[in-house]
Amino acid sequence: MKTIAFITAALCIASSSLTYAANDNVKSVKAAMPELMTLYKDLHQSPELSSYEFNTAKKLAKTARELGFKVTEGVGGTGVVAVLKNGQGPTVLVRADMDALPVKEQTGLAFASKVTTTTEEGLQSHVMHACGHDTHMTSWIGTAKLLSENKANWSGTLVMILQPAEERGRGAKDMLADGLYERFPKPDYALAFHNSAGLKAGVIGYTSGFTLANVDSVNILVKGVGGHGAYPHATKDPIVLGARIVGALQTLVSRELDPQDAAVVTVGSFQSGTKHNIISDQALLLLTVRSYSDETRQKLIDGITRIAKGEGIAMGLPEELLPVVTVKDEYTPAAYNEPEFTKRMAKLFTSEFGKERVEEVPPVMAGEDFSRYYRADKNIKSMIFWVGGVPHDKWQLAKETGETLPSLHSPFWAPDAEKVIATATQAMNSAVLTILAK
Ligand SMILES: [Zn+2]
Ligand SMILES: [Zn+2]
Repeated sequence: MKTIAFITAALCIASSSLTYAANDNVKSVKAAMPELMTLYKDLHQSPELSSYEFNTAKKLAKTARELGFKVTEGVGGTGVVAVLKNGQGPTVLVRADMDALPVKEQTGLAFASKVTTTTEEGLQSHVMHACGHDTHMTSWIGTAKLLSENKANWSGTLVMILQPAEERGRGAKDMLADGLYERFPKPDYALAFHNSAGLKAGVIGYTSGFTLANVDSVNILVKGVGGHGAYPHATKDPIVLGARIVGALQTLVSRELDPQDAAVVTVGSFQSGTKHNIISDQALLLLTVRSYSDETRQKLIDGITRIAKGEGIAMGLPEELLPVVTVKDEYTPAAYNEPEFTKRMAKLFTSEFGKERVEEVPPVMAGEDFSRYYRADKNIKSMIFWVGGVPHDKWQLAKETGETLPSLHSPFWAPDAEKVIATATQAMNSAVLTILAK
């Protein structure tokens, strides 16, 4: 599959000019790295939670301004839009997300975060860049720097955005709702990357077509009639009904979807009752529901509603006590990499980094709101790719011992930031230079 994709890649770039550009890119990235690593360590030590990225946004907006960008702050909350117009040509959007997570860092790094804060839910929490968005922002600055210093070699418009609240699935939506495509040049292309805890540091991973899933949070409120545990006949037990619903939900993916159509229905929380001998009068189920196409997403949501209600009827509940299904609004749509554009970028990355550092990888069931920039206008050629962050020694050890590596969001996630930042900066820089070639 991989080989065919490369051979049939329709868009070619003259190999002589490419070699020259690649060498140039490597040199520029190398020169920028000490400064970028200082910025990375600073960002890593000062993480901020979703929608509270005030200092992060301010700091990076200032740097972008110094690089010659026209910068607007406060777009969709703490979002930043930095525009660099450089003659005729297409418009390219490059996005990085800024938010950290309520996680207590346990990496043991010298520059580990010691930040604590109060979450939106009012809980005291530590804060950590456990999803590695600090590597995204650092590469974003690296890309901005390289392109602003190299204006003679490209023509077009660069719209670089720093997005808040990715982890809450609302930052992209908020920036778009605040006029991202009306107040600023609308992109023809959109690019982003995410560091990966499943790829060796410095390896680029990409997927053509759907690459990340539709993610829905669904609540099922199961009502019942409470009473004494010794008199079940006088009650309608919501725990028994909830358990039936959980069981029946397992047939949605296994019996109702095409086996080739990947989807997930997970009940992540089942809350009910207070004591051994009391039958509760309600239970609450919290689900995560994942799919790729809009049709499958709707099929799953309809199926969950049908099963919850149907099991309620089977239990003999009256209409007003039937389970209530609510789809939460923190939905993120599936990310889609436009196949022709993805092929073109994969070919470019392969020529820059060599075959051993570029891999076609399967789609994953994680979510990312980067998808919204494409869904707001499907003419935009959009691509999000992975940049591996697993340090080589850890990768080797895991291979030999079968030990599991920390995932994204883990308190132990410590990517080889230098490799991630250098690779991502070079990849983004060469992608933009290729798209906006004179
Ligand atoms: Zn994350
Ligand atoms: Zn992330």
